[in-house]
Amino acid sequence: MADRMERFDVTIIGGGPAGLYAAFYGGLRDMSVKLIEAGSELGGRLRSYADKTVWDVGGVPPIRCARLIEQMIRQARTFEPTIVLGQRIAELERREDGTMTVVSASGERHHTRALILALGHGVPQPRRLEIEGAQRYEAANLHYAATADPGRLRGKTVLLSCCGSGNVSAVRIEELAALAARVVVVRGRADLQPSDRSRPTPSVEYRAPFVVERLHGDGNRIEAVTIARVDGEGDFAGERERMEVDEVLVDHGTRSEYGPIVRWGLEKTSWNFDADERLATRLPGVFVAGDAANYPSKLHLIAGAISDAAIAVNSAKRYLDPTAPKSAPMSTSSAKFADRNKALGL
Ligand SMILES: Cc1cc2nc3c(=O)[nH]c(=O)nc-3n(C[C@H](O)[C@H](O)[C@H](O)COP(=O)(O)OP(=O)(O)OC[C@H]3O[C@@H](n4cnc5c(N)ncnc54)[C@H](O)[C@@H]3O)c2cc1C
Repeated sequence: MADRMERFDVTIIGGGPAGLYAAFYGGLRDMSVKLIEAGSELGGRLRSYADKTVWDVGGVPPIRCARLIEQMIRQARTFEPTIVLGQRIAELERREDGTMTVVSASGERHHTRALILALGHGVPQPRRLEIEGAQRYEAANLHYAATADPGRLRGKTVLLSCCGSGNVSAVRIEELAALAARVVVVRGRADLQPSDRSRPTPSVEYRAPFVVERLHGDGNRIEAVTIARVDGEGDFAGERERMEVDEVLVDHGTRSEYGPIVRWGLEKTSWNFDADERLATRLPGVFVAGDAANYPSKLHLIAGAISDAAIAVNSAKRYLDPTAPKSAPMSTSSAKFADRNKALGL
């Protein structure tokens, strides 16, 4: 596995608002910065409401969240941090000279002098189909909506097992109907079929209230599925149907997890990580910012994530150099921006 020998002053884990602003502010404080994001795109939770309008970020008039993400990414890139996508950080190692190494789930190693955890609620993981043996089909034709490759479903008979938010699944059904030859939607609640956002199409059939009861296959591929009718309590109500399918798609929502980071020895009296007023954790050189931070006046908003990020960067800077000023010069008086202002005609 790659061992990136370059050691950064600060490494930020998480590319949501806290991580993005920390990347900008770390550059402003003359630190070499690396940002590592588990997902394939930056933006964090904002991606889950990208089509909504945000009103409550200071100094930003009402803005489509997708546009806000673009602007935050642009600002984060100001001082050209190294940005790594698609790596979920799992382990932390520490050398005697204080260098820390964070290791991704896929074995990539990143060396750093200070660390900022901007993890939000963690990495979203699909809620699994709770049927014994289901996991062995994940390499073949059992897919989870959050990670499925739509190309695999083209022209196929697809069974979609969904529960949770009706609208999310309705959008998924419309997309599927345009792609697959036949879609059988299995829903645990009768009142969720079909919602006004999913217009009935000839290729979509509904079974509700039904749940997937059994997968039939040779251990490599699912060949058929038995679905069973359930009553209001979720208990089996007798009626069953077996159907042959090409692909099974599961959309049971997601659950965010910190994964192995919870074993690093960080203090955790709530669902997130305890921090002091400098956003320092109990681990030397490890700071926390954004929704991942727990302290008495914590603000679970984009504005709070931005403020945390600046505080965590200032603390990381002073951890590396106790003689450094408490905060960066303001941008209006910082020489760093003189040429940039000229280039922008400002
Ligand atoms: C539906 C909804 C609507 C909202 N509306 C508003 C609003 O209108 N205004 C407002 O101010 N706030 C709003 N919020 C809250 C706001 O989105 C959060 O406060 C903000 O996103 C927190 O930013 P963050 O950077 O701390 O975390 P996140 O945005 O959650 O980003 C964390 C990032 O860290 C990554 N990550 C986690 N663990 C790892 C790991 N081990 N390795 C690598 N990467 C990792 C994740 O993949 C994620 O991208 C809303 C939240 C939701 C859910």
